[in-house]
Amino acid sequence: MSNPIVKCTVDQCTHYMPGDQCMAAKISVYNDEMKGTSSTFGETLCKSFHHRKTMGDMVGALHNANIGGTMSAAFLEGTQITPAVECFVAGCKYWENGNYCNAEQIHVTGSNASKTTDTDCNTFVPKDK
Ligand code: SF4
Ligand code: SF4
Repeated sequence: MSNPIVKCTVDQCTHYMPGDQCMAAKISVYNDEMKGTSSTFGETLCKSFHHRKTMGDMVGALHNANIGGTMSAAFLEGTQITPAVECFVAGCKYWENGNYCNAEQIHVTGSNASKTTDTDCNTFVPKDK
């Protein structure tokens, strides 16, 4: 089992923290839900995105916050805080059985995102490439 470092530039998300870090405890990466598969990174999305302008979503976001031990230890050590990554994009070359991602780092993007489908896992590479 492996877990990538998550670099995220989706600053509209409640989990986003300056320094392009994600402070969610866990994120889930999905395919485009209509299509069910992805052939480009634009068809992938971060299901854990919560738009920061919505109050109801803020409660959900707090529920999934990476606070407590992990975060304070990370601050003390000066290391990167990173969520556990679960990924359902089985067509990606970094995907591993058990819904793991074996990339060293993933980059989640989506400028001015207001919903999950506006976000992407930019690190996606089709399996046959
Ligand atoms: S969009 Fe996803 S990876 Fe980025 S901060 Fe939000 S939950 Fe984390
Ligand atoms: S790089 Fe591939 S396996 Fe890893 S999270 Fe992104 S889409 Fe999933």
